[in-house]
Amino acid sequence: MGAREKLFGWKDPYDTEGTEEVFTAAMRENAAYSYAHCPEYRAVLDDQGFSPEDLRTTEDLARLPFLPTAFLKAHHLFAMPRSRMLIRASSSGTSGAGRSEIGLEPGALAAGARMVVKIASPRHILSAMPCHYVIFGYPPRGTSTAAAKTAFGYTFLAPALSRTYAMRKTEGGYVPDLNGAVRALVRLGKSPFPTRLMGFPSYTYFALKRMEERGLSVRLPAGSSVMLGGGWKQHWRERPEKGELYALIRRTLGIPEEAVMESYGAAEHPILYCDCPAHRFHVPVYSRVIIRDPWTLEPLPMGKIGLVNLLTPMIFATPVLSVLTDDLGILHPGGDCTCGKKSPWLEIIGRAGMEEIRTCAAGAEALLAGMREEGAGT
Ligand SMILES: [Zn+2]
Repeated sequence: MGAREKLFGWKDPYDTEGTEEVFTAAMRENAAYSYAHCPEYRAVLDDQGFSPEDLRTTEDLARLPFLPTAFLKAHHLFAMPRSRMLIRASSSGTSGAGRSEIGLEPGALAAGARMVVKIASPRHILSAMPCHYVIFGYPPRGTSTAAAKTAFGYTFLAPALSRTYAMRKTEGGYVPDLNGAVRALVRLGKSPFPTRLMGFPSYTYFALKRMEERGLSVRLPAGSSVMLGGGWKQHWRERPEKGELYALIRRTLGIPEEAVMESYGAAEHPILYCDCPAHRFHVPVYSRVIIRDPWTLEPLPMGKIGLVNLLTPMIFATPVLSVLTDDLGILHPGGDCTCGKKSPWLEIIGRAGMEEIRTCAAGAEALLAGMREEGAGT
């Protein structure tokens, strides 16, 4: 059994301390593979004088050269022939900005499936009770983005009676149809079956705000839930306090805070960060997070704000074992959370350099313009 399989089979998905050794071994295994099979990755390591064998202890992880997500958008790197990849997902991106393409081989998918079951089961999202889905995101055929694929995958966690997508195709591309989403929610409020809302927190928030502005509210049946994912992207400045969002969800849909969860992830780092009951993103054993100084790129101690560097040995097909995102975040020590999880938790603050934002949900300007138009017409 390889180190990756051992890591993804680990019993407690938040046992950071217990997995230090196996995590480093899995990263070394992955780095050696990527070095041998991806010439571009080898060039990066050679250029920085780093050998996969240099990965011996946890401290060495910070010295492993990382690839910025902007680099992965400009250069599609693979360490396997495409025929061996079962899925190729791309990151979201505006039409002109380029997208990263991530291949997933069977071993990565198997590891990912074990991870989802381990992380998601305690939140009771695997269910035999059929439900309706309202997705604040793209239909699966509308785009090849990882976010859309993930959202579509989540609609199989409980049997689907219906799927309503809040993003509608127009001649100019996809635009959020908030009014359509509100109509669907009001209609589903009369169904005896639960409804699950999922997708971008921004559009979920905007739709529920609109619902409330119109004096509409429903009481969705028990078992209904909200799964927010994909982050606030270009809408991060409009992000409300978490408590305000939960209160809005309760008022408009009758869904309690315990049934609202949020996930964090990136196409270049498909690890499932699911928030705990205290709504914190504890880092699971499958990954490590290093916060780096935005100017020197040196690792920062816990509690300091910086660029989020995500590490995982999950994928062999694409050398994404250490990627530097343009997210700004803080890593907090574990153990002080009321949920009892011992692993550190990641707080996402926002995005670095507004002018550098290239990974908005899909054509940020077009979307915003579409929303303003729609808002003006109602
Ligand atoms: Zn917690």
